[in-house]
Amino acid sequence: MAIKVIPQRCPQNHPCPSVRVCPVGALTQVGHNAPQVDEEKCIDCGRCPRSCPMGALQKA
Ligand code: SF4
Repeated sequence: MAIKVIPQRCPQNHPCPSVRVCPVGALTQVGHNAPQVDEEKCIDCGRCPRSCPMGALQKA
């Protein structure tokens, strides 16, 4: 499995809270843009989909 970012669901107007919950630093954000997932680093822990209230991060 992998994490899919759905930019249309992200208001892109705030620091992404999910970046802080990722235990391996797989999520990055440039400015207030929607975050990006480094598939090489992601261990599929499932924390970021739960931490995004907008549902912008989903298990693919
Ligand atoms: S599933 Fe876990 S490891 Fe992967 S990007 Fe989300 S928080 Fe990071």
